[in-house]
Amino acid sequence: MLEQLDQLKETALSELRELSSMEALNRWRVAYLGRKGSLTNVLRSIGQLPAEERPLVGQEANRVKLALEEALDEMAGALKREESVRLLEEERLDVTLPGRPVGPGWLHLSTQILREIYAIFTEMGFQVLETPEVESDINNFQLLNIPPYHPARDMWSTFYTTREGVLLRTHTSPGQLRAMRMYCPEPVRAILPGKCYRYEAVTARAEFMFYQVEGLAIGRHVTMGDLKGVFTNFARKLFGADRRVRFRCSYFPFTEPSAEIDMDCIICGGKGCRVCKHTGWVEISGAGMVHPQVLRNGGYDPEVYTGFAFGMGPERIAMLKHRIEDIRYFFSNDLRFLRQFA
Ligand SMILES: [Zn+2]
Repeated sequence: MLEQLDQLKETALSELRELSSMEALNRWRVAYLGRKGSLTNVLRSIGQLPAEERPLVGQEANRVKLALEEALDEMAGALKREESVRLLEEERLDVTLPGRPVGPGWLHLSTQILREIYAIFTEMGFQVLETPEVESDINNFQLLNIPPYHPARDMWSTFYTTREGVLLRTHTSPGQLRAMRMYCPEPVRAILPGKCYRYEAVTARAEFMFYQVEGLAIGRHVTMGDLKGVFTNFARKLFGADRRVRFRCSYFPFTEPSAEIDMDCIICGGKGCRVCKHTGWVEISGAGMVHPQVLRNGGYDPEVYTGFAFGMGPERIAMLKHRIEDIRYFFSNDLRFLRQFA
């Protein structure tokens, strides 16, 4: 019986060494160690041996079983390693292939047009001054000659905050007061760019958030002629040297007199088209001489100082310049639109 065990061990191990696949290994396991395997049969037959032989044969059989199991594990490990080396070899990944380049970003069209406007006005001696987007009712309305009962307040639909008297500015004009109070009694020449907010329906012509650029010049002899000169120069620098500009009478509570500034239509050259509604002119700004009461609110004596102010929408200007038909493109973040201005 012991001899038989020894023989079985030798045969099993030499067979095992010849195996080259996991399938063959499994077949080997079933043949020797499975429920009907050769070694299992030997172990089962121990019960029929005379009692005095059983312990010795039993011990030996268990030793053989352990040896076979150990050899099996070892062989399985070796085969697995061989398999993974083969897979690595076959499925080699070429990490030297260059990745897809990530392109650099670019400035948003609103930022681009703002920077063009800054460049033109700073050349004329204006500084760029940023003022808060969250404003007081006093600065946004009252000190600009728009008291609570004033009918002009109907012109603005406002985002009010939960704090009484605090709102999102509806225009950049409250910046005029901040600039005046900052520099009074010195002369001021500044443009005040920034975001404004209006609680109104979004359409192709109106957004609830948009940029404005306010302009302000205050000094001892500032006249309407200066406003005309500054604005004509601006229009020609931005849209071409042969642009014509006209002033139309208008009304704003914080300027007196007030004007709308038009430029001859760059699309049709003044002949009349859909963009200029067949008038040959497009409106590019609202402006005027700073109202004496607003000057006083800013700290200046209107008997000594005068000034002009204007406000314009850079998105509207970009729309004109690039013939964009819908203001909603600016902030809907569609890359197909934005990429055209990269
Ligand atoms: Zn036109």
